[in-house]
Amino acid sequence: MLTIGCHLSSSKGYEAMARAAASIDADTFQFFTRNPRGGKAKAIDPADVAAFERRAAEEGIDVILAHAPYTLNPAAADARVQDFARATFADDLARMEATPGQLYNFHPGSHVKQGADVGIAKIAAVLNEVLAPGQTTTVLLETMAGKGTEVGGRFEELAAIIGQVELDGQVGVCLDTCHVWDAGYDIAGDLDGVLEEFDRVIGLGRLRAVHLNDSLNPLGARKDRHAAIGEGHIGFEALSAVTRHEALRSLPFFLETPHDDISGYADEIARLRAAWE
Ligand code: FE
Ligand code: FE
Ligand code: ZN
Repeated sequence: MLTIGCHLSSSKGYEAMARAAASIDADTFQFFTRNPRGGKAKAIDPADVAAFERRAAEEGIDVILAHAPYTLNPAAADARVQDFARATFADDLARMEATPGQLYNFHPGSHVKQGADVGIAKIAAVLNEVLAPGQTTTVLLETMAGKGTEVGGRFEELAAIIGQVELDGQVGVCLDTCHVWDAGYDIAGDLDGVLEEFDRVIGLGRLRAVHLNDSLNPLGARKDRHAAIGEGHIGFEALSAVTRHEALRSLPFFLETPHDDISGYADEIARLRAAWE
């Protein structure tokens, strides 16, 4: 069975997200750990977590993906931005232990003219500070579009970060289809070739989740503007092929497509499930 869901608002808590997911035939979901622009996270309510665990079991929700705020930049030159990244990362990982064994995704960061190598070393240093033995969460580096000075637009950059992490068993990758397309990886014309390259550079064993998005821009545009599935340059057929690929089909897929309300996701999930069968 295809494991698929979408990004949901966490404002009403975990159980409400599981209910919303079930209402659109999703069996997973993604959520922000706090305001995506930063700020303090709401305290975790143990009663909500307990209700979530019961409902998730009922609805067949096994895996969920938390997304770090966009303002988290472990590669930053500014010491205060680095401090925020470290503190937020550590706080989020502590909170994730309320729902053990789940996934936490973050944007590796922007090196802002320090150079990719400096950015890579800083990102790895933050991971080495916040990862601790015994943590059950797998931390995922997201593949990026390579916009501006973003680190992670090349598979080599993600491999270099992982190569410098001590507890690398706790680290994986989340592949964003819009981002890799914008970075120049032709998943529409040569999905096999892109996955072979991923396997050679990073290792497919690291791949733990997929952000399934179409792109408003052509291959290699480095823009990072998501489109609804089938309404962008990648197209429905190619994105459906991503969900059906032998190397990917058992992974959880997360829609981060632009919709005014949840019915847009329900429709995408229904079409992708029908094509997957
Ligand atoms: Fe993201
Ligand atoms: Fe994404
Ligand atoms: Zn994006």
